[in-house]
Amino acid sequence: MAKPKEYLNYIAGKWMPARSGEFFESENPADHTEVLGSFPRSNAEDVSEAVAAAKDAYQEWMRTPVPERADYVMRAGLILEERKEELSELMTREMGKTLKESRADVQEGIDFCFYIAGEGRRFFGHTMPAELRSKFSMTVRHPIGVVGLITPWNFPIAIPLWKIGPAIVSGCTSIFKPAEDTPLLATLLMEIFESVGLPPGVLNLIHGYGEEAGAPLVSHPEVRGISFTGSLEVGRQTAEICARLMKRCSLELGSKNALIVMPDADVGLAVEAAAWGAFATSGQRCTATSRLIVHEDARDPFTEALLARVSKMKVGSGLDPEVELAPVINEKQKHRVLEYIGIGKQEGALVLTGGEELTGPGYENGNFIAPTVFSGMTSDMRIAQEEIFGPVTGIMSTSSLDEAIAIANSTKYGLSCSIYTRDITSTFKAINELEFGVVYINAPTIGAEVQLPFGGMKSTGNGHREAGPQSLDEFTEWKAVSVDFSGRIQKAQGID
Ligand code: NAD
Repeated sequence: MAKPKEYLNYIAGKWMPARSGEFFESENPADHTEVLGSFPRSNAEDVSEAVAAAKDAYQEWMRTPVPERADYVMRAGLILEERKEELSELMTREMGKTLKESRADVQEGIDFCFYIAGEGRRFFGHTMPAELRSKFSMTVRHPIGVVGLITPWNFPIAIPLWKIGPAIVSGCTSIFKPAEDTPLLATLLMEIFESVGLPPGVLNLIHGYGEEAGAPLVSHPEVRGISFTGSLEVGRQTAEICARLMKRCSLELGSKNALIVMPDADVGLAVEAAAWGAFATSGQRCTATSRLIVHEDARDPFTEALLARVSKMKVGSGLDPEVELAPVINEKQKHRVLEYIGIGKQEGALVLTGGEELTGPGYENGNFIAPTVFSGMTSDMRIAQEEIFGPVTGIMSTSSLDEAIAIANSTKYGLSCSIYTRDITSTFKAINELEFGVVYINAPTIGAEVQLPFGGMKSTGNGHREAGPQSLDEFTEWKAVSVDFSGRIQKAQGID
């Protein structure tokens, strides 16, 4: 078999191998026999070199006018648009999701590039009155400095751009450490920023494993901020280290999202939303619908229609246009999902459909799990509380809106929640009382738009938001500026 192509890190505008000289491989989750490339297995030494490059580039970059910085992001968006089909196909081969969804991932990246490039011509501060005469007061944003950007594999283009875009516009210089499962897409993204002439050191790429390349980035003393998207466990560790070092840390972590179905809902729509929300990207979205909280008056028709819908789902390679359910990312994740299915059974939930790995013809070389629906799931079960991150959802029964909201709010997470109802009172009560950063009325739990702030309450994060204008807050400090043009010393708060 031909040796896979070797890709490199990108530091100070140059492509280079890891100091260790070691590489790791990226495989197709639908077919392990396809290796997409070998990537540098970096460690603390490579990270230090990248941080030094970002530090060297910082002063000049922070002095570059904001619209000029933003133009690089816009031009990257234009190239992404030209290369959308090629990148989407590679994404399906590297990450596994269906081609339709890969196109949407790239499109989200394009949309965000254009959106955040526009923010480069706003980048608003405020002016406000001063309490003293002949004094002017305003606020301006200031970049936080060198930042580390650590990303997961489930949105290999969109999530990195949610961080890279505002970091560039804000005037930060960055070290991007992508997930080890999708290094090819990260490399192609880096190449695009190189091709638009982004100055050396402004964005650096370090490949490698979390413990070896991610951890030294988090703890590096010259890195002033970390923007992390990933699991709760790693997010918690990251926050602890950042707190000790007094550095900025923004976290986008896991969730246990819910879809509530009230008796007055359009059940057909709710079923379609449940199927899409639970099984798109094989349930590997941070907003995946893993709990279906269904009013008992709607439960039987909802369950019947959902099972009919799921039974029609074709499972297979994301390159097959008929396939709705693609593989999960890797062997480890496959075993984790199957373990949770076992836990659900032990806890007394009933598997209505699926519940197993698919191994027959066409499935031999990939990580395929049948779409799985439990019934009889209750809030005290681990499968109702812990993030599974696979094609598994469960129906929970409720007898009132108050109870449905209490069940939805009963986990430690709070990213996305949806309610299907045609009642205005239920709608506004849900908007008011759901403890989630993203709330949908009569729409699925998945499908964020880039101009809206994205992030979760409780353990899903630490109060930061990505996308939307709020994304600039991750990478800037507010500076309060006062100009006294009275020609004398004026003392505030009435001191003579
Ligand atoms: P993960 O936490 O295992 O890895 C995420 C990234 O962190 C990877 O780049 C990894 O290499 C790196 N990493 C791992 N250990 C590290 C360490 N000790 N120090 C520094 N970096 C380290 O998560 P994953 O499996 O890649 O992604 C799945 C998780 O991401 C799920 O929990 C999902 O909900 C979450 N996610 C959240 C959002 C959101 O916006 N809330 C979006 C997508 C995914």
